[in-house]
Amino acid sequence: MHILVTGGAGYIGSHCVQRLLRDGHTVVSYDNLFRGHRRPMDLLAQQHPDTLTFVEGDLCETDRLEALMREHAIETIMHFAAWAYVGESVEMPLAYWRNNTVGSLSLIEAADRAGVERFVFSSTCATYGEPGPDQIPIRETCPQQPINPYGQSKLAVEKILIDWVRACTNEGRPCAVCAPRYFNVAGCDRSGLLGEDHEPETHLIPVILEAALGRREAITIFGTDYPTPDGTCIRDYIHVEDLIDAHVRAMEALEPGDTRFYNLGIGNGLSVREIIDACREVTGVDFPVKEGPRRAGDPPVLYADPSKIRDELGWSASITDVHEIVDSAWKWFKAHPDGYGD
Ligand code: UDP
Repeated sequence: MHILVTGGAGYIGSHCVQRLLRDGHTVVSYDNLFRGHRRPMDLLAQQHPDTLTFVEGDLCETDRLEALMREHAIETIMHFAAWAYVGESVEMPLAYWRNNTVGSLSLIEAADRAGVERFVFSSTCATYGEPGPDQIPIRETCPQQPINPYGQSKLAVEKILIDWVRACTNEGRPCAVCAPRYFNVAGCDRSGLLGEDHEPETHLIPVILEAALGRREAITIFGTDYPTPDGTCIRDYIHVEDLIDAHVRAMEALEPGDTRFYNLGIGNGLSVREIIDACREVTGVDFPVKEGPRRAGDPPVLYADPSKIRDELGWSASITDVHEIVDSAWKWFKAHPDGYGD
């Protein structure tokens, strides 16, 4: 298949490009390199010179995207390009609405004009907001009430896509959409080629590994007074390769008129302290830990009920031990203490 991957030079997008190339697809990776990196594109192009094209560009370039889709006979879009920091979204809501919602609308308009019929959109559990205790583990039917602009900006795109598929179906066009809603994506490509290099880095596991490498003075726990057994927030950590596997299965299962939403997690929650302990065990480093105040916009407990995707597509996470997730990241971080170096 001919697939356009937006955000293909980013952490999750590059892992998706790698998987699609391994599966024999032809990929156009489109990224503005604001937070993505050219290096993973070069590494993947060395392995797949005939089936990977990298294009530097922005989502707002609707006409250019349409031309690109026509030129490469794109059949499916996998849309990862987005800004994804909850805290930043609270400080810069307009940038999140522009980059995530307006950018996605531009991409969907280009797809519509170019006649692309299948669209996979990376959504998020942040669209659920702060579910009550009776809504945990979170099912897809949980009310979507985001509590930050990041979640709002992604939920709006889900709604645009539902309307698009409905209109296409009414016109007799066989469009279909899938939007996996991610929990906490972590770990790196186990072949060691691709990693996670964010600037700024705010995600828990990479921040801890940077502390273990001595690149940060300490890791700070954001809040120790949550209503959880050890007082720290609980999240559902899923390995990036499992996450991408779910995307591929969902893409392959799409039928005309589908709008599929799936929660992607392993179905278990771990606290910040449990992640710190796992990182200590994997790295063997006794890095300093500080206790700090809560971070704005962090719900206390979020973990998935992934039974819908298991029942419908036969997918469940193959890596359920967080040590294995941390180990895959630690190998890359140790080998690349300066990230991709660009
Ligand atoms: N966290 C923390 N210290 C950090 C980074 C994150 O205590 O330096 C906590 C954060 O408050 C949240 C959990 O770790 O409860 C996961 O945060 P992350 O930013 O990795 O992902 P999020 O859940 O916000 O998508």
